[in-house]
Amino acid sequence: MRKQDVAEKRVKQAGLAICMEEIHMADLGIPQNTIGVLQKYQFHFQKKFGQNFLIAPHILEKIVDAAQITTEDCVLEIGPGIGTMTQYLAESAREVVAVEIDRALIPILQDTLSAYDNVTIINEDILKVDVQQIVEKRNQGRPIKVVANLPYYITTPIIMSLLESHVPLQSITIMVQKEVAERMQVGPGTKDYGALSLAVQYYARPEIVAHVPANCFMPRPNVDSTVIRLTRYERPPVEVADEKHMFALIRASFNQRRKTLANGLANGMGLSREQVSAALEEMGLPVTIRGEALTLRQFAQLSNLLKGQKLYS
Ligand code: SAM
Repeated sequence: MRKQDVAEKRVKQAGLAICMEEIHMADLGIPQNTIGVLQKYQFHFQKKFGQNFLIAPHILEKIVDAAQITTEDCVLEIGPGIGTMTQYLAESAREVVAVEIDRALIPILQDTLSAYDNVTIINEDILKVDVQQIVEKRNQGRPIKVVANLPYYITTPIIMSLLESHVPLQSITIMVQKEVAERMQVGPGTKDYGALSLAVQYYARPEIVAHVPANCFMPRPNVDSTVIRLTRYERPPVEVADEKHMFALIRASFNQRRKTLANGLANGMGLSREQVSAALEEMGLPVTIRGEALTLRQFAQLSNLLKGQKLYS
């Protein structure tokens, strides 16, 4: 819905005559307005749901800009809270589907988003939602964009289920804990490198958008936050015969981080040390190498070799 249309609707509802040009509808990011809504509904924050609401209009604008939302887009928002970012998204996108787990927030969302006719609120745990069905019903199967200030207690499961499920997605623009954003970006040889880095980099191109201090939230989290955009690849950057096997290999390697790859995979994947050593030798790698030293391409090669594929590259 256009900003002007929303403004007109609100003005009609309120019986006011104000200059339309002066109205900025997405107004919840202003701290006083958030406090007003919380007080009106006597809302109590639930720590177990990772509730830290954004109170920084410049950050909200940055997130929506980074997500490159257009009036063609269908956006999935995870955890709308009181609807702060949802308002911004509704003004830029064709349609927004917002999935919120906390039942207490639903009447608040119905109120704060009442002026928008392009928002659907679903009261559900995002991990139980059939995102594929949303894509088909709301966007005729075309790729959607995901935007969220994520609840930090389930950041990794949410990202992994979105990526691994292969639902049509253009991009995922999310606020996460700073350390998690760093883990998504790094390569081999760093302490943060692990299964999440490899999974994200197999499916998408990660780019840090902004670092966000704790005072941009209510209540303030105990950690620093970062906005990161993951742009989904049309085709992964490496070729692998069996994706599931490669990721099982990656998980087994990092579960036994301190062991050599040959020992770790012998334990974790039921392979013989000889099999792994032979594959490593064929790749020109020392048999004493640890998993944390392998690039995504090398994990793909190793998986292909262990699945009986020839090494071409
Ligand atoms: N988007 C709002 C904002 O930026 O102000 C709120 C963000 S807050 C960090 C995370 C939101 O996710 C909360 O509203 C919380 O209730 C919701 N949430 C937590 N776990 C969820 C889940 N499993 N599925 C859907 N929403 C969830």
